[in-house]
Amino acid sequence: MKNVKYGQCIKCGKTYPATPDLTTCTCGGVLEIVYDYDEIKKRLTKAVLAERTERTMWRYRELLPIEETTEPTPLRVGWSPLYDEPRLAAQLGLKQLWVKDDGLNPTGALKDRASAMAVAKAREAGAGVIACSSTGNAASSLAGNAAAAGLATYIFVPSRAPKGKVAQLMTFGATVISVQGSYEETFELSRQAINRWGWYNRNAAINPYLSEGKKTVAYEILEQLGWQAPDYIAISVGDGCTIAGLWKGLKDLHAVGLIDRLPRLISAQAEGCCPINRAVVRGGSWEPMEENTFADSIAVGVPRNGDKALMAIRESQGLAVNVSDREIMEAQQLLGRSCGVFGEPAGVTAAAGVKKLCEQGILGREETVVSVVTGNGLKDVANAIKACGEPISIPGDMNALLRAFSDSGIVVE
Ligand SMILES: *Cc1c(COP(=O)(O)O)cnc(C)c1O
Ligand SMILES: [Zn+2]
Repeated sequence: MKNVKYGQCIKCGKTYPATPDLTTCTCGGVLEIVYDYDEIKKRLTKAVLAERTERTMWRYRELLPIEETTEPTPLRVGWSPLYDEPRLAAQLGLKQLWVKDDGLNPTGALKDRASAMAVAKAREAGAGVIACSSTGNAASSLAGNAAAAGLATYIFVPSRAPKGKVAQLMTFGATVISVQGSYEETFELSRQAINRWGWYNRNAAINPYLSEGKKTVAYEILEQLGWQAPDYIAISVGDGCTIAGLWKGLKDLHAVGLIDRLPRLISAQAEGCCPINRAVVRGGSWEPMEENTFADSIAVGVPRNGDKALMAIRESQGLAVNVSDREIMEAQQLLGRSCGVFGEPAGVTAAAGVKKLCEQGILGREETVVSVVTGNGLKDVANAIKACGEPISIPGDMNALLRAFSDSGIVVE
């Protein structure tokens, strides 16, 4: 890879050749992929991108850690829509608000970006089997992207994973192990199994290439905004890989001169599980927390990439906001009703955070904000129904309809 220099430990600084099966440093630290920006700058310009017809995450291949000969993975990952939302912006009191709907990726989550990268790297490594543990979406995205590429998967999920996500795994033909325990215990078992059988490892943070896939969300947002940086980008945070990837993407664009100013990050977590945001507020490093939220994708008490996430939030002079499960449900309704976007609970946590920061007067008329929806609402229908309630249920009869309208106070014009 001409564009990549090496992998470097974020703790001790040790460097490693960027082989496809790179994992963590011998000191236990997470690795960061380091690029040769001077080389990339010569080849990647706004004009070059404007000409490009590839409408997937692979359109940014100069900034991705893949061999020049590596083919794009089969599913269409990335290039999700960025919607300008003037009505919601006005309602919240913001200057401008965009919603990036990454729930429209092929398996319904931003994690497709990381899983497509895992599949590309597993192919480079010549591996036939990929494994991971996940709160749900890393798993379903890996299973789908691997299935399309003809690779087998072993997937470990905590037994609380929503049925929609497990149904995806089974449909994509993964071997699924549902672990009766927390995400922490699930992760540990997957680690042991991966060591034992030598499968290609798609565990978040362990494999440094994954956030390199996730960072493409930053490239898209900025390209879709005509390279004009917004003041803030809000995203929900569990393990911390997504926000760390987002920040890496923004810094890449800055380093190669495609943007001249960096947005600030908004890290949104659930009140019942916010180890990273708690560290932002208290200072110092993060401490484990209980996993007390219905937003399953971000119910991560022991974040695998907490250090990188904290660095990203602090470096960007970002904001940390915690929201209750109730506020997440309200945000799900709000995005549905005002934008026609249906996100899963963790998917709308960023929007809940933006709403709260507006209500607190921290964001307002001066600010432009992008809020990323990280997962599709259809993945977790049970929780959506809790938030939105049941429809009018009547026999197929006009009188019943009239009665029901009158009972519910519906006046048809
Ligand atoms: C995984 C996930 C997140 C959080 O990403 P992390 O890398 O774990 O911080 C947010 N939303 C959804 C829908 C997810 O699946
Ligand atoms: Zn190290």
